[in-house]
Amino acid sequence: MKGNSADSSISPVAAGFSGKAMQEKLARLGIANEFDLVLHLPLRYEDETHLYPIADVPADRTVQVEGVIIHSAVMYRPRRQLVCQVEDGSGVLFMRFLNFYGSQVKAYSVGTRVRLLGEVRPGFFGAEMVHPKCRVVSAGTPLADALTPVYPATAGLSQEAIRKLIRQALARSDHAGSLAEVLPVEIIKHHQLHGFRDSVMFLHQPPPDASAILLQERTHPAWRRIKFDELLAQQLSMRLHYRQRRSRSAPALTEKNKLTNALLQSLSFKLTGAQKKVLAEISRDLAAVHPMQRLLQGDVGSGKTVVAALAALQAIENGYQAAIMAPTEILAEQHYQKLSGWLAPLGITIAWLSGSQKKKQRQAALADIATGGAMLAIGTHALFQEQVEFSQLGLAIIDEQHRFGVHQRLALRMKGAKTGAVPHQLMMSATPIPRTLAMSYYADLDVSVIDELPPGRTQVVTKLVADIRRDEVIARVRESCQAGKQAYWVCPLIEESEVLQLKTALETYATLTLTFPDLKIGLVHGRLPPQEKTAVMAAFKQGAIQLLVATTVIEVGVDVPNASLMVIEHAERMGLSQMHQLRGRVGRGAEASVCILLYQKPLSAIARERLKIIFEHTDGFEIARQDLHLRGPGEFLGARQSGVPMLRFADLEQDADLLAAARIAAEEMLRDHPASAQRHLQRWLGEKSEYLRV
Ligand code: ADP
Ligand code: MG
Repeated sequence: MKGNSADSSISPVAAGFSGKAMQEKLARLGIANEFDLVLHLPLRYEDETHLYPIADVPADRTVQVEGVIIHSAVMYRPRRQLVCQVEDGSGVLFMRFLNFYGSQVKAYSVGTRVRLLGEVRPGFFGAEMVHPKCRVVSAGTPLADALTPVYPATAGLSQEAIRKLIRQALARSDHAGSLAEVLPVEIIKHHQLHGFRDSVMFLHQPPPDASAILLQERTHPAWRRIKFDELLAQQLSMRLHYRQRRSRSAPALTEKNKLTNALLQSLSFKLTGAQKKVLAEISRDLAAVHPMQRLLQGDVGSGKTVVAALAALQAIENGYQAAIMAPTEILAEQHYQKLSGWLAPLGITIAWLSGSQKKKQRQAALADIATGGAMLAIGTHALFQEQVEFSQLGLAIIDEQHRFGVHQRLALRMKGAKTGAVPHQLMMSATPIPRTLAMSYYADLDVSVIDELPPGRTQVVTKLVADIRRDEVIARVRESCQAGKQAYWVCPLIEESEVLQLKTALETYATLTLTFPDLKIGLVHGRLPPQEKTAVMAAFKQGAIQLLVATTVIEVGVDVPNASLMVIEHAERMGLSQMHQLRGRVGRGAEASVCILLYQKPLSAIARERLKIIFEHTDGFEIARQDLHLRGPGEFLGARQSGVPMLRFADLEQDADLLAAARIAAEEMLRDHPASAQRHLQRWLGEKSEYLRV
């Protein structure tokens, strides 16, 4: 790439990149350098390598024909249009332009030879092409020798311009040797991969006989090579990340079974098989001298809290501290109460830390945490702020981990780092991550799954009710509460404005208070002062409140078994995982539970789809899988997105086999071919691979 300076007049690519306007346009397509152009792969192709005789063009396919114009006229019925008749010896075809320039009328005059690319349909006058791509040619003009790629484009950058830029980038990259193979021969052989250079060239310029179907469906070996490479880069970076963290040292927190057994004996229930299984996995990790990095997944209500408590006890019985961080005050508070109930009798000291507590209490908590007076710290994100210093943190537990950003989790992990050892980390999530996602975007973590609910849970019956039938819902709530049960009334989500959401919650509360003068109604929302929040939740738990009007703050964690009815307003606005989480607040006791999804018409296509899925499924993994299908991984990953390389070409559902292959190959390469691994990462992630290494 000698002479590739910005002012080089012989290098249109460099010249292109030097123009700010051009750079911005390319940036919109995610293209920042020459190699990005190489990987800017076609969406589809046009076939200009064949000419079809007009008499036997296939239907419903874009084809190319060539002929001479035998009639040409601007017609005014039903509206102004240019209509030409083209004849090729085998037959006649009309071409029709509804928008056209005067220059076209001139160019498409009788006797002119033209090449048309388009779909032939039966038209008003006979077989016709409407707005074909039309080129004036002379007899014998050579045909294209490769399929014509159609690229993702953007305003102000024509297909022609992109094609040219890419052609040049390919030639230059090839010349510079930057398309050379970087994978070891063994891996290429083992996975029967096409060469990288050949694959790239093929996809940009497929020969006329290339299989249109394989190209379109992206199953052609050339496509598979590119997808494999992409998945491999992702796996490599995630596994490298994993190894690097793994290479740090952590305190070995061995199983002592004193406190843990004491807790198990005091519980009113026995652990499920699934809880025992994940506990064994966690316990083994804790005993190792390297930091655990484990994600514990389990559907809503599967009993993750007790597993967290047992893990914390294992740290504590080794003389270390544990911390549990939750994303909302309500949830953190609830953990505090629940764990105090379980652990205080065992002599465990617990500190409580939240952003909104009084200065004095906070100072006392901070002191307890710093001196080691507190064996367990429970709190919100306040736990990872600078002032918080642990005496000896051995285990950091993060509940509902997807609510936290990468940086926040990192900060808590570093809390123990001053002693040289990194604390073990357990992340918990009730938003089940489909297997393929876990294998790809979470490949830097070990994963445990609780795949069984505690016995005696009743299925929640879900009902979809249009808003116009609100009266029936109201009757149902009254009946239920009068029978001694409790209910949630969840206010609509208003994403644009927290203030508006609060207003709606207050209004809903006011309306329902009038509707149910006979019921004891409470209100909880994000802006309520913490003491009031606690008081309302406690009253609901004790049954002093029958109907709890709430914003989506109750989405995670809240556990009131006597509540068996939930009404969700404007369910059409809620996301799938949110509805699943909310619904998980009921069905926690022996009582048959009902979740009523009130929706307002008209429904958008996606809202209809979501309501259908939540109506038909109760299994969180299945819902997550469908959600992934509906929205793609991007939205699914939320906070995780930053820092994890996203996939552009591979599709986790369609390419699950390639993902599995890439996982194996990544381990092999890191073990046997580290230099290749490094080159591959450099090629695919560039500077981003540096970021991942920290
Ligand atoms: P989640 O996984 O959603 O965090 P929780 O830990 O809040 O679920 O547990 C839900 C409820 O189930 C709690 O009341 C908890 O005490 C109870 N629970 C947990 N494990 C069991 C079990 N093995 N048998 C019966 N109840 C259990
Ligand atoms: Mg929980």
